[in-house]
Amino acid sequence: MYTLLNDDGPIAKQNQGAVVPPIYQNSLFTFDSWDDIDQAFDDFSDSYIYSRINNPTAKYAEEKIALLCGGEKAKLTASGISAIVAAVMHCVKSGDHIITIHNVYGPTNNFLSQYLNNYGITTTFVKGTSIHDFINAAQPNTRLIFLESPASMTYELQDLDAVAQFAKSANIKTVIDNTWASPLYQKPLEIGIDIEVHSVSKYISGHSDIVAGAIISDKETINQIIKNEIALLGAKIAPFEAWLILRSLRTLPLRMKKHSKNTKKIIAFLESHPMVRKIIFPGIPSFEQYELGKKQMSGYSGLLSFELNTDDISMVKSFINALKLIKLGVSWGGHESLVYSPTISYSKELTPEQFQAMNIKVGMVRISIGLESAKDLVADLRQALDGVTG
Ligand SMILES: *Cc1c(COP(=O)(O)O)cnc(C)c1O
Repeated sequence: MYTLLNDDGPIAKQNQGAVVPPIYQNSLFTFDSWDDIDQAFDDFSDSYIYSRINNPTAKYAEEKIALLCGGEKAKLTASGISAIVAAVMHCVKSGDHIITIHNVYGPTNNFLSQYLNNYGITTTFVKGTSIHDFINAAQPNTRLIFLESPASMTYELQDLDAVAQFAKSANIKTVIDNTWASPLYQKPLEIGIDIEVHSVSKYISGHSDIVAGAIISDKETINQIIKNEIALLGAKIAPFEAWLILRSLRTLPLRMKKHSKNTKKIIAFLESHPMVRKIIFPGIPSFEQYELGKKQMSGYSGLLSFELNTDDISMVKSFINALKLIKLGVSWGGHESLVYSPTISYSKELTPEQFQAMNIKVGMVRISIGLESAKDLVADLRQALDGVTG
């Protein structure tokens, strides 16, 4: 039986009942005969031939992730961005058109808006908060709608059910980056989205010690992605990292509960502080799309943004530099709380027009609420907010 917690699947059974399965740290697999290896190639997407394609430790983690997402099959990749690139490349070819949202993850934005242009693929960026944004942007050659809901800096939602229905009627594939909600709090495949991708580096790994990605879909789609994008881009998961993901999955539900609980307490504190102008988080009733969030998500993670009550960048710097327990760094979803200002990277990665379309204010600060005591986190935020100077 596969569960997130227990490892009593076939791999453990082959290993003296070891409570934690061993790592298959090997590049290739040998066969007894010509016919055996010949047969393995006939079943390329599922066979153990070479670890660039498949590895038992990876496969074991993939089976658990597929179950968790309610998909038939999953493939782990070297990073979240390689999962995104593989899923997109699977869906489009030269001459095709993509629709995505303004506030899609920065490197995804770069890939769609710049890199793919080199191959004759064009992308239209829309706000995405209304289904009409997608309908109006659709062209005869639109082949893919790439979603990220909630978006990871500003948390705009897309109506997954409405987008899935429209896309199916127009013969357009849908891919969603579901990293923010984690597979626990949003099940896009069950709503009708075709392909789900994750940056496993965030909540699924949860320990800030892995960079990895995942693609989840029906069996046929994943088999094609394995045969083409995975085999040819070579963005494979390392067996040791797959083993660490198995470790992480055991505590995912517990960790998400604690992230959510801490986040509620932090938000209650931030709402009461005069230096905080606005909190941007899908789980609070003041959020514009609160009702849609309730409809398509079953919970909220611990990544939120808020606006400091200032447009003076030196005051924003002073606040960020004053935080002690909450560390300054990119990424999120780990055990440790982190702070980041989108202005730092987005002003470098994106064109001024793109940056403006995202509607990000200078005073916007993002925090990833970790697993520390909420009391300690509040104390840290309080001393930093109280001390803000220009
Ligand atoms: C971090 C992130 C990615 C990229 O994942 P990597 O594992 O860093 O390659 C993609 N999407 C979102 C929303 C992310 O936050």
